[in-house]
Amino acid sequence: MTQAVPVARPWMGEEEVAAVQRVILSGWVAQGPEVEAFEREFASWVGAAHACAVGNGTAALHLALLALDVGPGDEVVTVSHSFIATANAVRLAGAVPVFVDVDAGTGNIEPGEAATVLTKRTKAILAVHQIGVPCDMEALLSIAEPRGIPIVEDAACAIGSEIRIGNLWERIGRPHGRIACFSFHPRKLLTTGEGGMITTADDRLDARLRSLRSHGVATAIESGGNARTRQERYQEVGLNARLTDIQAAVGRVQLRRLEVVLAERRRLAARYNALLNGIAGLELPKEPDWLRSNVQSYCVRLPPDAEPRGVMERLAEAGIACRPGIANAHREPAYRSGGWRCADGPGRCGCASGSCARLATSEMLQDRGLILPLFHGLSDDDQARVVSALAAALGG
Ligand SMILES: *Cc1c(COP(=O)(O)O)cnc(C)c1O
Repeated sequence: MTQAVPVARPWMGEEEVAAVQRVILSGWVAQGPEVEAFEREFASWVGAAHACAVGNGTAALHLALLALDVGPGDEVVTVSHSFIATANAVRLAGAVPVFVDVDAGTGNIEPGEAATVLTKRTKAILAVHQIGVPCDMEALLSIAEPRGIPIVEDAACAIGSEIRIGNLWERIGRPHGRIACFSFHPRKLLTTGEGGMITTADDRLDARLRSLRSHGVATAIESGGNARTRQERYQEVGLNARLTDIQAAVGRVQLRRLEVVLAERRRLAARYNALLNGIAGLELPKEPDWLRSNVQSYCVRLPPDAEPRGVMERLAEAGIACRPGIANAHREPAYRSGGWRCADGPGRCGCASGSCARLATSEMLQDRGLILPLFHGLSDDDQARVVSALAAALGG
């Protein structure tokens, strides 16, 4: 029996082991000099003024919203079609997520739709660069900026993705909105086991984020102060959302490898595009000319008449792990009883039934989406096995 093909696999090895060993033997394992160095290197890589490391991507989103004073009574415009953490971060901040449908091509927030749901309660737009495909930031900014609404980018999946602004290619995370949030979960391109990063160009927001990740401690102390005589002061209620030096040391190794990882993922995606081209009814990811994805996931759309669960079963029997399309928060039990609204307002579109007429594209992408194995180290042979198994599963 040939080896099973996983859907994803992190690339880690001896270099990470050596980095972790160095930190452990140094005697300083919590947030310290490695985190500081990782922040500096990460900021420089994405072209940001500031980068603040945190314990995970969900904490990054939560802190970003808190730093923008999002709280009870506020609305945050975002998508339901995302990993649950996106909507949860809004709810954890005490605000109501307003779900907007997505563009069928990119799977990302439809800027025209977003414009129609803004109210005086809209405190922020949380724009997700889903599976590494960047949002149309120029269109979103043209809606948000005149109204003074800040954009938070959920860039959890988007390290290394790029958008063209004018004639220049820029990496996600500069950021293009007010704040961008990254995740270093093993399903993303750069991993520290768990981890996250928040980038901004705004000095005061950065200072507040640093305080909030450390219980709301006064910033001068968080960044050093006088170690001998200091008495910590807590200026507001915060969390413990820090990254450890052990994790940061791994992140620094991973960051140095990122260009290689990106090139290989894009090669594998191009090869999938070529190999899958002949399968009738299968829709392949298409990239508009103003963006370059990091291919965090390679997601195809099954023909409308295919039965996704059956397809996944047959692929599993052939030893190939797949994942269904990105889910929708409004269909999850935690959101069935409300706590969110769509363009029609709560309860007017059957929202509470687990289906929402205003989120039809989001639901279609979940129902027809299939994420195929793609990771650094996927062999050309295994990739060909995935393609023939999928063709067979679709009755080819
Ligand atoms: C992974 C992910 C998150 C959460 O990141 P964690 O580090 O797992 O907390 C948030 N949003 C999106 C879109 C993600 O893919």
